[in-house]
Amino acid sequence: MSSSIRQLLRLSSVRGRLTFWYLLTLGASLSGFAVFVFLVRAHTLYRELEADLQVRAHEAASDLRPALLSLDIAAALRNDPRARAEAIIVRTMPDTGDFRSPSFPWLDWRGERQLAEAARNRTPLVTVVGDPQRGALRVATLVVDRPGTAPVFIQVAAPTAAIERILGQLAGTMIVAIMLVLGIAAYGSGVTTRRALAPVEEIVSRARQIQAQHLGERLEIQGGTEELDHLVATLNDMLGRIEGSVQSARRFAADASHELQTPLAAMRTIVEMWAREGCEGDDHRAMAADLLDEIDRLRALVRDLRLYTSADAGRLLEDAVAVDVAGITGDCCEIARAIAEEKQIDVEEVVRERPVVTGSPLHLRRVILNLVENAVRYSPPASTISISVASENGDAVIAVRDQGCGIERSDLPHIFEPFYRADAARSRDTGGVGLGLAIVDQIVRAHGGRVDVESTPGQGSTFAVHLPAA
Ligand code: ADP
Repeated sequence: MSSSIRQLLRLSSVRGRLTFWYLLTLGASLSGFAVFVFLVRAHTLYRELEADLQVRAHEAASDLRPALLSLDIAAALRNDPRARAEAIIVRTMPDTGDFRSPSFPWLDWRGERQLAEAARNRTPLVTVVGDPQRGALRVATLVVDRPGTAPVFIQVAAPTAAIERILGQLAGTMIVAIMLVLGIAAYGSGVTTRRALAPVEEIVSRARQIQAQHLGERLEIQGGTEELDHLVATLNDMLGRIEGSVQSARRFAADASHELQTPLAAMRTIVEMWAREGCEGDDHRAMAADLLDEIDRLRALVRDLRLYTSADAGRLLEDAVAVDVAGITGDCCEIARAIAEEKQIDVEEVVRERPVVTGSPLHLRRVILNLVENAVRYSPPASTISISVASENGDAVIAVRDQGCGIERSDLPHIFEPFYRADAARSRDTGGVGLGLAIVDQIVRAHGGRVDVESTPGQGSTFAVHLPAA
């Protein structure tokens, strides 16, 4: 069996299914039509035969009337050439055949009994079993009344073989025609569906060729239908999104390794100096302190990397509970005061309402701490940081306001990107690893919330976290 026929027979393929249902529908319609034509033709032929039989019976009755009125009907009819020429039986009693013309065929006992019964029951038309060669006979029975005596029964016969032959030929012709039409339809449908689905196969082979290294490539399939154009556009959109995610994952990996390299290089320099020049007393302590700083930076970076990569919505909200926002903000204010003390920054806590949200208290604390750490980091000494909790349109709002350096308008759209630093040199000096706001954004979005930023360079910034209240 050739592969295309095998594919056609597999109803799991679109081509196979389309062809199968097309042929089934066409075959059923054509067969229905053929049966209708056959029945109409058969009905017409039999009606014509019966009308002819009845005309012949009436003609015989009027032509043979003198003989039928005579006392010896059998003898009168035997001598009548018209009676001998017609296929006729004349009975004075249903079971007695007074006259049977030579052209009326003899039947077996069943056929003869049927003829007698038709006369007895006065059945105008009956089909009787003939001999196997000539087939069945259609017989018309006419009752002819006679004045002053019993009626006679005239039976006229005609074979149905000719009609059966015509109907057989008609059926054969129609079966051959239907098979021919179905064959042509199967071929046509195969060609049409193959042509219609050719762009799908092209899409599949082009899609297979697109590798992770060449995600910039797009499918360009021409001449498809509206649906296929839509499919191609959707696949291209999907490729675009995959390309975007792969690029940002690559960028993230490159940035992360770059960030890891900086403290490692610093540590290597310190240890190299130590090994080369040796040191004593205060030098020794200063180098150890530098080393500890770099190790702390490395630890903070690794902690933030882990947090950022694991902070997806599903896992974050696994242990979600009702969280008293003012409660965790109060804890964070205590920590903020401890960090801010060194720069003599005043931390002010304003609780306007006590909203409750559903989420992870651990991660929500991390959100507030990251914002507070930034506020302290980018604020001048002896300034004030205000941390407030309020409710707004069904949201819990935690706002962290500082009087720091502020953020340039051009930097605002990027500050939530991982490793983005508005002022790289300044941020590195002050100790940020560039993941703080990215983590804030990720956690807040996992909780169904958002972060709004308002900032005026030189005057300060306000970060407002909106979380849907429980
Ligand atoms: P970093 O570790 O560098 O602070 P973040 O992701 O926390 O990284 O912040 C990204 C950048 O946004 C920072 O480098 C800084 O330039 C800017 N930024 C964040 N918070 C503030 C703030 N309160 N005031 C001024 N600039 C800020």
